[in-house]
Amino acid sequence: MIVMKFGGSSVANAEAIRRVTSIVAARQDRRPAVVVSAMGKTTDRLLEIGSNAVAGRRQQALELLKSLEEYHYQEGGLVDGRVRALFEELGELVRGLAVMGEMTPRSVDALSSYGERLSSVIVTEAFRRAGLDAVHVDSREVIVTDDRHTAASPLYAETYARLAGRLPPLLEKQIVVMGGFIASRKDGVTTTLGRGGSDFTASIVGAGIGAEEIQIWTDVDGLLTADPRVVKNVRRVRVISFEEASELAYFGARVLHPSTLLPAIEKNIPVLILNSYRPEVEGTRIVAERVPCTNVVKSISSKRNITVVNITSTRMIGAHGFLRRIFEAFERSQTSVDMVSTSEVSVSATIDRPAALAAIRSELEQFAQVDVEDNQAIVCIVGDNIRYTPGVAARAFRALGGINIRMISQGASRLNLGFVVANQDLEAALEALHAEFFTEVDPNVFA
Ligand code: ADP
Ligand code: ASP
Ligand code: MG
Repeated sequence: MIVMKFGGSSVANAEAIRRVTSIVAARQDRRPAVVVSAMGKTTDRLLEIGSNAVAGRRQQALELLKSLEEYHYQEGGLVDGRVRALFEELGELVRGLAVMGEMTPRSVDALSSYGERLSSVIVTEAFRRAGLDAVHVDSREVIVTDDRHTAASPLYAETYARLAGRLPPLLEKQIVVMGGFIASRKDGVTTTLGRGGSDFTASIVGAGIGAEEIQIWTDVDGLLTADPRVVKNVRRVRVISFEEASELAYFGARVLHPSTLLPAIEKNIPVLILNSYRPEVEGTRIVAERVPCTNVVKSISSKRNITVVNITSTRMIGAHGFLRRIFEAFERSQTSVDMVSTSEVSVSATIDRPAALAAIRSELEQFAQVDVEDNQAIVCIVGDNIRYTPGVAARAFRALGGINIRMISQGASRLNLGFVVANQDLEAALEALHAEFFTEVDPNVFA
């Protein structure tokens, strides 16, 4: 058994869905469970419809909904009763939101779940019409989470038990198709795993059924040496360790949702990143063992629009419990901290979900002075050779030359080195680091 996950752009239109169909057909003998994202930018559209509805722009919301519906009929190639029924339900929900005038995290999940509910039905049907024996499984019946709406975490024991009970017997004879991203609480209420969460679904499913491989099919050739939207001349990484790829995902390489590798690591299942537009390319293989390499750095991740919180207290630092109080303030608002650095009198932390900033700030201000910098970016070089090679930081600093570095951090694993720079310096910083570390590459590791 294998898991094959196709991202939004891989199922964005009729032609893309045909490509996916032939990719899956060619791998039928491996007994694939297929996980699909919402078609194209559907999740963004759904959230936009919701914002319009609650802001009193009911008409606008309904018009956007109409065009989303037409897009699904047009590109999904299927005016089927189930798709119509889903749009009818969705229409009710949007009208309800317009009446209520507010969106709770629970209703955000109800709304955004429709993208994957639709795409999974449409793709199942596309497979059938192409002669494949496919069956749809509603992910919400097998993936159970806690109640942290919009970023829920799976309850692993229950989820694995349900997956192991339900999928393997079906996979004996059929191709299973499921929506990514969506799940449900124990009481059946719909939840989601956070933006980009279909990757995570794929690895949860893979771990649950003991798959021999998890394939993440996307719109680039694999994990690249930097974000291709920012840096020219990026290379493909042929093979990388779980440890390194986890750091990259965590620090912003969008190609993998940050939690994706956890279930795969636990069950030691290799993860492949592949291009659905160029299935002949071998992609990137993420494996348990170390990958020897003559380059120090394997890839550079980046994340824009983060916020730096500087917490200063001349009297508290070094005092018992100071750091604990700081982290509790973030924890209570369910805000995770990405990078931390400390000095004699201050602690700096970066966050990427500033929603709860006001609450965090007022809690911290009870014992420290707080100052906040918006519009910052993280750049992080990752490679397990960093810990064995002296002088890497010096090379990075030299390359970054005139760029103002706001914060520096090395993870405890010592396989990453992170910098915070202003958003507007991100591109220059990435180009400079990429030129420094990837002008010559080890042909065994990079393509
Ligand atoms: P999908 O819809 O298939 O999940 P995403 O848009 O979530 O695709 O992720 C793929 C995109 O991630 C690529 O198109 C690329 O622009 C971006 N990306 C950022 N950093 C990297 C990286 N290091 N390697 C590959 N892609 C990256
Ligand atoms: N459709 C969801 C999103 O856009 C999940 C995913 O694509 O992975 O965030
Ligand atoms: Mg994604």
